[in-house]
Amino acid sequence: MSSVRADTAKTGRQTNQHLESAVAEAEQRYVAANPGSAKLNQAARATMPGGNTRTTLHYGPFPLAIRSAQGSKVIDVDGHSYVDFINEHTAGVFGHTEPVIQAALKQAIDDGITLGAPNIYEHELAAAILARFPSMARLRFCNSGTEANLLALGAARAVTGKPNVLIFGGAYHGSLLYFSHGPSPLNAPIPTIESVYNDVERAVSDIAKHASTLAAVILEPMQGGAGAICGTPEFLKALREACSKHGVLLVFDEVMTSRLGTGGLQGKHGITPDLTTLGKYVGGGMTIGAFGGRGDIMDRFDPSRPDAFPHGGTFNNNVLAMAGGLAGFTKVLTPAALERMNGLGDSLRDRANALAKKHGLPVQTTGTGSIFAIHFHAGPIRNIQDLDEGEKGRERDIAALKKLYQLDMFARGLYVTRRILGNLSLVSSAADVDLLIDALDEFLVNRGTLIRQVVGSAK
Ligand code: PMP
Repeated sequence: MSSVRADTAKTGRQTNQHLESAVAEAEQRYVAANPGSAKLNQAARATMPGGNTRTTLHYGPFPLAIRSAQGSKVIDVDGHSYVDFINEHTAGVFGHTEPVIQAALKQAIDDGITLGAPNIYEHELAAAILARFPSMARLRFCNSGTEANLLALGAARAVTGKPNVLIFGGAYHGSLLYFSHGPSPLNAPIPTIESVYNDVERAVSDIAKHASTLAAVILEPMQGGAGAICGTPEFLKALREACSKHGVLLVFDEVMTSRLGTGGLQGKHGITPDLTTLGKYVGGGMTIGAFGGRGDIMDRFDPSRPDAFPHGGTFNNNVLAMAGGLAGFTKVLTPAALERMNGLGDSLRDRANALAKKHGLPVQTTGTGSIFAIHFHAGPIRNIQDLDEGEKGRERDIAALKKLYQLDMFARGLYVTRRILGNLSLVSSAADVDLLIDALDEFLVNRGTLIRQVVGSAK
């Protein structure tokens, strides 16, 4: 970590620390406040690598272990209550104790849960989803977003008879389809061609160049995991046109983004993908994935056809996900509720960006609607290449700033991720957002000199 010294004489504020010592101090405070989480993590290390079964939830020196949750708050094992801005990485869109969903789940449990047959919920849930996503003539359920993407790409390769899939740098389509900085070593053995997000010329030429071997282009209309980077309307439109022109299927991964409008981001952009994948909140908080799209493609899954694609899956129609999802989708996730939540997210982002401007700091809040990411970055953020370029040579210091942000927010009772990707739920209140904005204001005041010294000036 480079030695960054803040100038107390100039600022008169509590920034008289090296970045390293500021982080060390915040970490000491965190360790002292969370003995229960530390103990659980230590014990879990004996049974799970790193005490962890979900990499997304790992951060050092140990993550907070959450014991319970209520409404928009989570409570950790040491008894601290936090306003939740993680919300199960967007799967927790209903808040933690939504009564309509709880009642539906209780009813389903009372009626028996492992039925081994079509149940009374699955068709209705499918119908409710299809009604909002006209691009999907029919759909099938599965168990996770990862599975939905693997199945969509499998179908695309099978129907086109072509092997390759075009992906975009920075993409996360599940832990078997991860392209943060090159492909993950665990990726499914699907041959991929990497293109550049939001680079119209490059993407269109990549599609044209590889058309004869290209089954599909897969992307999120806003890259979530890469840092809430919105696809521009021109980019998404150009992809649609290029795919249609060259006989390549366009797959929208809306596992995360489908909550950003009643018909997802495809509805907002007026773009009709050939296939769409869903997951996260669609099961009302239970395990789920779904994929659907053009009738001619999806009908290959009709088991009565001689050329049917086989697609089993013990829990594809698990009763809890179907019942929880149906209640959530039809009774809670109304267009008005989505609009309120996404509007609140838009105001959060505007206020956060106004604060950065007020303090003259290179801090940007990206995203759209209820999903946001805070970046210590000067200059445009069009893709992961822009972020990498901005971090070049100062990766450790940027990582330290993110850690400091998370630890400072924890100390203020706000549950946030270290990679600073956040989201709101339907029960996030205006007062919850005020708390985050106040805490961000304080952070920018207290740590502003450090930020400026690490990142440079605002552009
Ligand atoms: N696609 C996207 C865009 C996601 O954000 C995620 C989950 N973070 C997935 C796919 C994978 O979903 P799951 O974790 O349910 O496998």
